Amino acid sequence: MFHSSAASILCAFLAAASGAPPFVVALDPGHGGSNRGAPTAKPEQYEKHLTLEIARLVQRRLQGEPGLKIVLCRSDDVLVPIRARARCANQAGARLFLSIHANAASAEQGPGSQRGFEIFVLPAEDVDQEVARAALLADDDAQAAWAAHRARTTAADSLAAARRIRWRLSDALGSDRDRGIKQAWATLDILQGLDMPAVLVEVGFLDHAEEGPFLLSEQGKKTVAAALAGAITDLRSRELRGQRDPMTTAPPGQRRGPAAAPASNVSGARP
Ligand SMILES: [Zn+2]
Repeated sequence: MFHSSAASILCAFLAAASGAPPFVVALDPGHGGSNRGAPTAKPEQYEKHLTLEIARLVQRRLQGEPGLKIVLCRSDDVLVPIRARARCANQAGARLFLSIHANAASAEQGPGSQRGFEIFVLPAEDVDQEVARAALLADDDAQAAWAAHRARTTAADSLAAARRIRWRLSDALGSDRDRGIKQAWATLDILQGLDMPAVLVEVGFLDHAEEGPFLLSEQGKKTVAAALAGAITDLRSRELRGQRDPMTTAPPGQRRGPAAAPASNVSGARP
């Protein structure tokens, strides 16, 4: 068992009492196969290896947690196209998509000059595109309005999830490693076309003289994995306590219409 705290017992009780389907989390270990990602100081060790190891550790930590199911959208050293990763999460009925990456400083920043973790969610203009995409796929105006509502609340839920992950990583790695939540810096193709809240986390800089070796160490990988697993259980228990809008997290086929939608509570979410 991952832990036996009172919160976990409460979660197990609530999950059993609600008869709710499992809270499915799609983990996306960045890169894979010929797409190796950032190099590390170790020969033949790349970002793609680290992201897969962290994802496996998160999965192992959460194995046996009641009401929780972890799906890996890449479970081997293979190239998985971006759209296939989105399909994996959508088909699994995931309630959270978490893409795991590690950084390297750009040439302008200067190799080795940066450290810390940072978290990305879709920029506002991309959310607008998702809203337009959802509306286009709808059969009529009412469905289009509902689809647009869902796309916006999903974006708000992504931010709430990002805050929780940030809080856990900051607690585990130190607040001085916190580079914040960002929305506009990267082109976040990987976070598009998803039906659920989606977050990308860069766990640290592989080219930093201290941080790189730490991330590759057993302790480093375990520390990051424990923080991500903790954030997932936090989000799961928050949902079970009804602190999130169930409309945006209900699995496909169990969503209710907009008339029954309660106000989203994500703005009140604390890290
Ligand atoms: Zn990456």
